[in-house]
Amino acid sequence: MATVISGKEVSQKVKGEVREKALALKEKGIEVGLAVVIVGDNPASRVYVNSKKKACEEVGFNSYEYALPEETTQQELLDLVEVLNNDEKVNGILVQLPLPKQIDENAIINAISPDKDVDAFHPFNVGKIMIGEYAFLPCTPAGIMELIDSTGVEIAGKSCVVIGRSNIVGKPMSMLLLHRSGTVTVCHSKTKNLKEICQNADILVAAVGRPNFVTGDMVKEGAVVIDVGINRMEDGKLCGDVNFAEAEKKASYITPVPGGVGPMTIAMLMKNTLTAAMIKNNITE
Ligand code: NDP
Repeated sequence: MATVISGKEVSQKVKGEVREKALALKEKGIEVGLAVVIVGDNPASRVYVNSKKKACEEVGFNSYEYALPEETTQQELLDLVEVLNNDEKVNGILVQLPLPKQIDENAIINAISPDKDVDAFHPFNVGKIMIGEYAFLPCTPAGIMELIDSTGVEIAGKSCVVIGRSNIVGKPMSMLLLHRSGTVTVCHSKTKNLKEICQNADILVAAVGRPNFVTGDMVKEGAVVIDVGINRMEDGKLCGDVNFAEAEKKASYITPVPGGVGPMTIAMLMKNTLTAAMIKNNITE
């Protein structure tokens, strides 16, 4: 039976460290601020924004919420981003995705100053991640690295399989595993022999967006299984991309949904915002 990796515990530890550093900055007269922008009234986005504001409180940051109506134009949002780029109180800018259809998400991401791009979605930061010289890491993959590290399992030389190649999870995840010398295979909807590839994975990361996609027979004995999926079922419950009951019989370590990767994403957002404030103030530790 696998050991369940508690994202709640690991995220508390990360937030505790961020809080300590934020307090030390406060003693130097430096306050850390995160601007959270939400457009429209998508209920899932509202839940995420509220969690991010709550996390700011926990770690001692100021949070500034900008709630704009559904019919906001792209230019209006670009104008707000410009104001926030120039606002001294704001160290990080988070524009909650998805945006309403009249707004081009890439145009907004590209307008955020790379120094305040705490989601690490701007092409400048994406490029930095590719060459391994980053200040910010994308929150979900960075959180997953913390979860894997919490197990003590070595990544170097291991067969790592990532299912999913999105810009926010799959691709950066594969890059972080590669930086740590994993032998990485990235799978997607056109992958042939997916089951066989997964069966060979020492570390398996599922970011597919399909409930119970990874079944027990796809999991190698002793593998570390990370479930990124957040799928809302008809009964309102959350379900991951991994069939937990089956996979936990074979894995050595496994993350639950909820309480696995989800809390880590927010903790890493706090870490990135702290990093932004430290860089701005030329503080190295
Ligand atoms: P996307 O929909 O952008 O990407 C899904 C990926 O899965 C695509 O690359 C797609 O392949 C691949 N895929 C879909 N069907 C199959 C299949 N049958 N076989 C193999 N691969 C397949 O999703 P995201 O990356 O944004 O998110 C993935 C999941 O993670 C979602 O459930 C999301 O809610 C969750 N998530 C959770 C976060 C957290 O904090 N815990 C943060 C972000 C996301 P192709 O490219 O070929 O279409």
